[in-house]
Amino acid sequence: MPIITTRCVVLQTYSYSDTSKILRLMTRERGPRSAIARGALRPRSRFGGLIEPFAEGHATLYVREHRDLDTLSGFELIRERQGLGSDLTRFAGASVLCELVMRLAPEHRDDSLFDTLVDGLDALLETPDDAVDAAVLGQLWALVAVLGFAPHLSRCVGCGRVVPSGEPARFDASSGGLRCESCPGHGEPVSAAELETLRRLVASRTSRAAFDGVQRRLLIDFIRYHLAEGVRIRSLEFLARGGR
Ligand SMILES: [Zn+2]
Repeated sequence: MPIITTRCVVLQTYSYSDTSKILRLMTRERGPRSAIARGALRPRSRFGGLIEPFAEGHATLYVREHRDLDTLSGFELIRERQGLGSDLTRFAGASVLCELVMRLAPEHRDDSLFDTLVDGLDALLETPDDAVDAAVLGQLWALVAVLGFAPHLSRCVGCGRVVPSGEPARFDASSGGLRCESCPGHGEPVSAAELETLRRLVASRTSRAAFDGVQRRLLIDFIRYHLAEGVRIRSLEFLARGGR
């Protein structure tokens, strides 16, 4: 039974029996893994308080080949990130990041995905209160892109024409991006200013624009169409309600 030590982020935990916890982890070396932490719920467990969602550390795992469940034998904490739980919008954003990684990460090492997750959680933890909405949307768009689902924001998905800045358009989530005003078809109307904000969020993970819910809806619709595929992502519904 090989033993590995790997840097990882705790994506989700749940109780197993009266005393143990099951963890969903995103590891740097091996992609997503599930592990059991025996005795983690006992009062004096060596894991006490360490293995909570969003925490990052070096996990030592007993890996049994062809088994889905590893055994956690040690966890050396790098960063706990419990502060994410103190604000509902930060918490909702971090939960969506983790849930998307849990459902969509490939079953092998993926450094850019791991780094995008870690950078996203840190950004949501550290960003000032007045920039939380932009940070949540920017970090989620970054994760969507690194998972291979970047939206098309320069050319119209219908006719292929470049949609210049200053021109309004429609955002057709089901077709994967912008649809110009002269093309028939569906899509939510976006003003030139909203389109500018969306492009900035996707390109640079930030924006100074004030948000009125439009940007949040565009992101959530896009994730529903392209990443959720009929699966209900619980944390996304929470974010859709405003994270409040
Ligand atoms: Zn067009």
